[in-house]
Amino acid sequence: MIEPLVLAEEKGNKFVWLSIDEAEMDKGILTNQYLLTVKDKGILMDPGGPLVFERVYDTMQKFIKPEDIEYIFLSHEDPDIVSGLSLWLSYCPNAKILISDLWDRFLPHVGVDIKINVIRIPIQGMEINLNGDELKIIPAHFLHSVGNFHLYDPITKVYFSGDLGAAVFPAGKWYIIVDDFEEHKKYMEGFHKKYMANRKAIELWLNQIQGLDIKIIAPQHGSVFEGENVKKFIDWLKSLDKVGLDLLEEELNSRSA
Ligand code: FE
Repeated sequence: MIEPLVLAEEKGNKFVWLSIDEAEMDKGILTNQYLLTVKDKGILMDPGGPLVFERVYDTMQKFIKPEDIEYIFLSHEDPDIVSGLSLWLSYCPNAKILISDLWDRFLPHVGVDIKINVIRIPIQGMEINLNGDELKIIPAHFLHSVGNFHLYDPITKVYFSGDLGAAVFPAGKWYIIVDDFEEHKKYMEGFHKKYMANRKAIELWLNQIQGLDIKIIAPQHGSVFEGENVKKFIDWLKSLDKVGLDLLEEELNSRSA
């Protein structure tokens, strides 16, 4: 087990990466889970399913009591994000789920009672108060899911980016902080070209983050961008002319050729 990492600490807020177990590297796609604590209260981001539950739950308790988790934020609906929700709600009895109002109706299929546990995020995003801190939920629709959001903490200036910024490593390769951005690009390119919906979705997201002071970008897969790599990552996204649907036709034609 790799030790958890406090990515940022500011005025009583802590933004924590909740470790990874090396054994997970041979299973499904590797996932990052994060916890933000504001003094004694917390929010979990994309906490994941049965594959990682024990590791995430044990690590989380080094930083917060389960009953002090006020929110569980879900960037979108994928199984590596939502499949453990009924477990999470049984161990964190005071947590409210934050999810897109396009996806809440699907949660009863993983055993969640949406009449009592859910806060629905509208398409424009929203702000939520965690122990006095006003967290921003930022729209990032179709990157890759319809009804897709990120979370920004204005105190630590960490931006949780869900699947945006994801990297997929070959066997034997992994690191949590991006060091060499040029090298790192090759682990992100395939994922973004396959999973992100189109160029327009990227442009709309770039508008959403204008004016945000972002020190760290923390994605759900792959590695964390700090310092000058934040700008490098955003510039790299701007440079992607075609992703997803923009490429589909030529991809289909190339397969039939
Ligand atoms: Fe996803």
